[in-house]
Formats: sequence, C-alpha cells, structure tokens
Amino acid sequence: MSKQIRQDDEPRGLRRRDVLKGLAGAGALGATSLPAIAAVPSDASTTWNQQADVVIVGSGIAATSAAIAATQRGATVIMIEKMPFKGGTTAKSAGVFWIPNNPLLRAAGVVDDRLDALRYMVRLAYPDSFLPNHPTLGAPAAAFTLLETFVDNASPVLEKLMADTGLRIIPWQFAPDAIWPDYYGHIPENKVSKGRSLVTDVRPYPERHFWAGGGGSGESLLWMLQQGFDKRPIQMLLEHQVLAVTQNAAGQVTGVVADGGETQPIRVRANKAVMFATGGFTHNVPMADGFLRGKIWGGCAAPGSTGDFVGIATGLGATLGNMNNAWWAQVPVEVAVKTRSVPSNVWSCPGDSMLEVNRYGVRFGNEKVAYNERAQLHFTWDPVKLEYPNQLGFMIWDSRTSKAYAGYDPIPLPTAKPAHIIEAATLPELRKAIEARLLAIAPQTGGITLAKDFDANLQKAIQRFNGFAKSGKDADFQRGGTPNENAWQYAVVKPAANPYANKTMHPIASTGPFYAVILGAGTLDTKGGPIVNASGQVLHASGQPIPGLYGAGNCVASPAHQAYWGGGGTIGPAMTFGYLAGTAAAAEAIRPA
Ligand SMILES: Cc1cc2nc3c(=O)[nH]c(=O)nc-3n(C[C@H](O)[C@H](O)[C@H](O)COP(=O)(O)OP(=O)(O)OC[C@H]3O[C@@H](n4cnc5c(N)ncnc54)[C@H](O)[C@@H]3O)c2cc1C
Repeated sequence: MSKQIRQDDEPRGLRRRDVLKGLAGAGALGATSLPAIAAVPSDASTTWNQQADVVIVGSGIAATSAAIAATQRGATVIMIEKMPFKGGTTAKSAGVFWIPNNPLLRAAGVVDDRLDALRYMVRLAYPDSFLPNHPTLGAPAAAFTLLETFVDNASPVLEKLMADTGLRIIPWQFAPDAIWPDYYGHIPENKVSKGRSLVTDVRPYPERHFWAGGGGSGESLLWMLQQGFDKRPIQMLLEHQVLAVTQNAAGQVTGVVADGGETQPIRVRANKAVMFATGGFTHNVPMADGFLRGKIWGGCAAPGSTGDFVGIATGLGATLGNMNNAWWAQVPVEVAVKTRSVPSNVWSCPGDSMLEVNRYGVRFGNEKVAYNERAQLHFTWDPVKLEYPNQLGFMIWDSRTSKAYAGYDPIPLPTAKPAHIIEAATLPELRKAIEARLLAIAPQTGGITLAKDFDANLQKAIQRFNGFAKSGKDADFQRGGTPNENAWQYAVVKPAANPYANKTMHPIASTGPFYAVILGAGTLDTKGGPIVNASGQVLHASGQPIPGLYGAGNCVASPAHQAYWGGGGTIGPAMTFGYLAGTAAAAEAIRPA
C-alpha cells in the first residue's frame, strides 16, 4: 500500500491553498492563468500514492488512443481525469474522425494520393505561404513533418485501433447513402472530395444512432474503444486534477502531482513517461483573451478545457505554438455569457428564408460556409470606424424557416421557448427586442448597440437577398455554392420543399412573425500549446525533447494550424497522434525516480 503524503512533506507552492491562490492571482491580474508551480523534485525517497509505466492525463480521444497503444505494448497505465465523468469534449462531440486514405476509401477503389492529401492540408493550414511544388509545400519544416506523420499514420493507426478493439467504421453521411464532402471538397487542391470523414459504426445499436446510416457520436466512439479497458492494465482515476509533474535530478519527468480533494495532493509515479491529453484552453478566460486572435464568447468544449498543460509545460521550458488559432464556430452569445461551455455551437445557420446581419443591418458573409471560417467573420476590424463591426451577428428568419427547420439548432422546436431566441410580429419590433437584449448583456459586450440605420439597411439586405434567392445566385457571398453547404442544408430529417434553384435560399416573408438569435465567435476548443515532435515528445526551447513528457490532442500545438480540413478534422489527428505518443511512451526505459 502506498503511503499518504503528509502536509509538512509538501514544498511551499504545492500546497493546495498555494496552488489555488496562484491561479486566482493570475486571473485577477488579467495575466494568462498559470499554475503556481510546474514541477516538483522527486528522488529515491519520494513517497508515491500510485504508480504505472505510463501516466496519461485526460480521458478524451487522445488519451484513450494513447492508453490502448501503450497497453498493446505491455505497459501499465493510469489515466487521470479531473472531472467526475470521463470523456472530455470528445464525449460531447459528434464523433466524426477525418482519416485520409482510409480503409473504406481504398475498398471503394478511391486513390487518396499522399502528396495530393498533403497539398490540400497545407493549402488550408498555411494559405499565406502555400507553394504546391516546394519540398514542404510552403509549410514550416517542423509542422510539415507532423503533417506527413499524420498522413502516413492516420489510417494505419485507425486500422490498429480496429484490430485492438471492437471499433468498426462507416462513412459520415448527411442522409442515407449520401457521404458528407470535405468542407473544402470544391477547391482544386482537393482530389478526394468525400469519404475521408468517418464515424463509429453503431448500426447494431439503434439507441446509439446519431448520424444518418447508423453512425455514432463521440460518446459511442469512446464507448467502443474503451469496451476492453477492464481487460487491459488501465486504471482510471476520476476527479483528480493534475497540478504539476515530478522531475528527478536529471530533469526527467517521473510522475505527476494531482489534487483530488484529499488533505494533500497525491503523487502518481510514471515509471516511463507522462502524457498530457488535457484539451484546449477555451474556458480559461485570461488565456483565451490573451492568446486567441479574436474575441470568443465561449464554446462547446467541455468545462475541463482550461489550458492546464500550458502552464506546466512552459514551466518546464517548453515552447508554445499555434496559440492564436482554434477550431472556430459561432455560439449563441446570450447563452455563452451565462454559461461559457455552451451545450453546442451553431454548425450551420439552418433554414433558407434566413440571413445574418451585423449591427448596421448589413449582411457580412455567407451564412452557410463551414463553421470554422464563418466564425472568423466576427474578427473583422474596421480601421476607419475603429471597431469590430461584426463582433455580434444577428441571424434573422421568418415563419417558414421557423416551422420547416424547427429543432435544427439554434431554431427551436415549436414546443420549446429558449430565452435566447427573440420573436416579434414585425421587423421594427424585432429590432426593438434585439436592442433590449443587447442592453441586458451590455456589461459583457462593452455596450454594443444597433446602429441608427439598422432598420433601413435590414430592409435593403432582405430585398437584395430575396432577389438572390429567386435567381439562385448570391452575388455578394456565393451562398450555397459548394457541396458542403448543401450537405448541411440536407442534414435535417425533412428539408423544406423549395421551388428555387439554390436550395439554401428562399425569399424572406414580408410579414411576421420574425425571429432572431445573437451570434458571436466561439470554439469547439483551442489547438495551441507546447510544440511536440512526431512521437508526441514535448520539446524544450532548446529543441530537445523534455525527457519523459508527451502530449497529444488539443493541449499541444496542432500542425493543422488554421485549417479545419473536414468533419472529424480535430478527432482524426488527436486519435493518430495520441496513439503514436502512447506507443513511444511505452517504449521508453524505466527512469529512476
Ligand atoms: C458538440 C461538439 C461536437 C464536436 N464534434 C466533433 C466531430 O464530430 N469531429 C471532430 O473532429 N471534433 C468534434 N468536436 C471537437 C472534438 O470533440 C475535440 O476537438 C476533441 O475531442 C478533443 O480531444 P482531446 O483528447 O484533445 O481532449 P478532450 O476530449 O477535451 O479531453 C481532455 C480531458 O482532459 C481533462 N483534463 C484537463 N485538464 C486536466 C488536468 N489538469 N488533470 C486531469 N484531467 C484534465 C479534461 O477534463 C478532459 O476530460 C466537437 C466538439 C463538440 C463540443
């Protein structure tokens, strides 16, 4: 039996109250919130409460994939999760994973060429430096190595997971037998426009059906992967927040210190390595405000995404990367200002007789374009007016869309009356109702109001939009011009009959009722953190790995940079790099404490 750590054994800074004080202080100063201490020393006399070969922090997809890989190679594993429930954002997710050259594509005879896949990925990840014939395609060399690692390993890892567990896959479908395209399947660099996005095959389990054709959610993905966990040497420790790592005299990471509400934080020994898979920092307000390249109001990431690894890794000398990017999506602002971890994001603005305008009543973008790009419209800076004119967007729809797309978030079911949906009989009354809502959230928005000419501009915007709907061509923002936009339009049980050529647009009625929701930028989660190599080893500023320290998933710098290649663009890489990190961690030699 392991001994309990006594209060007076604890170095100053590690005591529970000191750590909490440190966190509170950083937040109050508006600085990025970092723990009071990143590492504590260990040696042969250290008392450990628990031990395993590999300690994995987190319990989402990167952690789960790593745990399977490590135990496949004979290692024992302790997974430590700070929440009372396992799964993190992964368990909340829709469970799609993006895997180039996957077994289903190959079985269908589709050639997903390595270089073509890389060109598509770099074109979107590094649009400002993309060079199609350059050795790294214009990406930074280290990031390109990671992208190559992903392309080369994504399918082999998936196939190993399928062999190691009961995981089965089917294509991600928006309607029965209709495979979802990549989000940018239409650009010339995309040579395989659909079929890279996969979901868990839960056809035998009707209660788990989440997608058309019997595909499962993120919870089902984890359920299937974790089914054999009781037969593997994996122990799950819930409700323990890892606060710091332990380091021996040689600077090697030897374990972690975790707080589970005991009188003192516990120490967990990692004979070989510690791997962090702790998600992003969406819910750490100082970090999100300090690092991201635009204001976010929140996001659907699980509440545990508070960037804990950023402070720990930088305390050990790691270099951070990609801290300004996130997996972006719009959120309902009135929900987010109350609960930063919103239930879900606005994936597509649903409906056809619907548009979105800014505080001037002016349409500012394509309401159907992929969520990662649409959310970034909120960051536009007006250098003359010295403001972010689109910081808040107002999605407005009529009775037709309200009825035909009911239940397709954020449009509520007729029986539901969510407080953040605004309803009025006429457009001027809708404007007044929006103004009242803006007043109520003024303390959080800095007092954003509607402009004086909102009514007149909105009338003009609707008139122009209605013309586009009738002609089928959106001359301003090309709404409905890509397969992905149309797929989202049909991802409802019964898309409304629409007599016009472009099914994403229908004229907005001249009479009420009208509806609105206030939208702003948010995330699925962030994707910046310490820089890692292809094995998931966290790199010191010197460029050398920090011995015994690994990371994968949203807690480390993503080589996707600003890209979101297609449905599953976050889980696919997290699954792949988690597995590679778990494999490498299990292969490490045992380190002295
Ligand atoms: C509604 C929704 C739908 C989505 N759909 C998709 C989709 O279909 N496809 C896709 O690719 N992506 C999707 N995403 C995004 C995706 O879920 C995440 O990007 C991905 O699952 C992150 O995996 P991860 O392993 O990096 O982290 P997570 O799954 O977030 O796991 C991190 C875990 O670490 C724990 N943790 C954090 N700090 C500590 C600490 N100090 N000590 C102990 N534990 C800690 C957290 O509590 C959490 O449980 C969706 C997200 C949401 C919310």
